[in-house]
Amino acid sequence: MTVINLALSIDAPDLDEASMWSGFEALAVQMAEELPGAALAAALDELQERLIDQVCGPKWSPVRGLPAPFRCPGCGAGDDFARKGRRSRPRRFDTSAGRVEVRLWHVGCRRCAKVFAPLLELMDLHGRRRTDRLSLDLAELASQMSFARSAELAGSIGHRRATPAGAYAATAEVAGMLGVPHLGPALRRAEVIILDGTGVRAGPLRLGADCNLAIGLTGRSGSMRRRRAHAELLGLTVGERWPDMADQLAGVLAPRVVVVDGEEGVTFLAQRLWPGVPVQRCWWHLSRGFRWALYADKAPSGWGNERRAELVALLRSAIARELSAAEALKEYDAFSETIRMAGHHRALSLLEVARSQVFTCLNPELRKGLAFLGGPEIGSGVIERVMRDINARVDQGGSRWSIAGVRDVIAVLVARRFNHPAWQHLTQALRPPNRIPFRLAKFNAG
Ligand SMILES: [Zn+2]
Repeated sequence: MTVINLALSIDAPDLDEASMWSGFEALAVQMAEELPGAALAAALDELQERLIDQVCGPKWSPVRGLPAPFRCPGCGAGDDFARKGRRSRPRRFDTSAGRVEVRLWHVGCRRCAKVFAPLLELMDLHGRRRTDRLSLDLAELASQMSFARSAELAGSIGHRRATPAGAYAATAEVAGMLGVPHLGPALRRAEVIILDGTGVRAGPLRLGADCNLAIGLTGRSGSMRRRRAHAELLGLTVGERWPDMADQLAGVLAPRVVVVDGEEGVTFLAQRLWPGVPVQRCWWHLSRGFRWALYADKAPSGWGNERRAELVALLRSAIARELSAAEALKEYDAFSETIRMAGHHRALSLLEVARSQVFTCLNPELRKGLAFLGGPEIGSGVIERVMRDINARVDQGGSRWSIAGVRDVIAVLVARRFNHPAWQHLTQALRPPNRIPFRLAKFNAG
């Protein structure tokens, strides 16, 4: 360990009746911006100088054959380096603590004549302009607001050189570090798996691209009124179809129940991955899809709203009165009959197709098995909130995304929202607690 002393000098005005607190506060604000980077650069300069002394011998009497803690990037040699001086032009790094301008010390390899900067070799800083930690900061912002707004906000907290393009590039980098395109399942077993998709305005197709999510429910906590579901991310695809998620979910064990949004591809995927596992149709999607179907059937608007409310009441009451599936289906069929009588074919077809999946949740065995979760999940509410976040983030403005661009933003967003293991590892690796002590001492104490 090496102690490095740096001197901080403040040309402070004497205290008198003209002294203004705001003036000192301005000093502190400017120091907050400039001191960390300057102090780090000075410390690194000193450390490099000592390292070169150790590896090459003192400046005026070079020593041959000394071992080094780094290897020559040209030939891999680990000893016998010659002093090549310090670059006058500093190397700039944008970091989480603002811009750092480091002067690089160089050595030459006596075996292959390569000249290089040991600092870059030791810390793997080749070709870096922005550190990974700053990329993580920017990507985290950019998963919650536009790139332009992210850059603006980063600028207001010290990263004055942040640009929208920089935030975009940082997001792509962080997505890559997270393992995108495949984040992979956060766990191998969940009692309830929810599959749901949304559309995002991206790619060449007029209707945009699919963003599909697989979530595992592992528990609930809190009071009955304000219960919080504990959910883990199992799969994510953007710009791909449901069957393309099979790879990501291949290692996930069969849950007790799968909740689907009603799309055919979802049910198909669930049955292929986990044959025999009961499938529950999401009630929220069912009632919403039913209302759309009535609209397409040109049913009167007020009447359509009433029928939707009636369907929702029917579903809820089946749970409240603890009906058997057979009893509930009898009421469901009676309701379907009123839609048939009214001649609304699309709405009727939707009810008929959904029929076998609507009351899976009433299965007594399933109820018992999922009692610790507060009973079987009958909706995708947990996932719906995330979907809203996704749409709020990517559907702003009139611009159309590239598939890769929107995928990266969504991946960072969901990895953060679900605290996915890849996100945990990355944040722990890039934002470790500081273990290097420092202190500020007053020199001219009298
Ligand atoms: Zn070499």
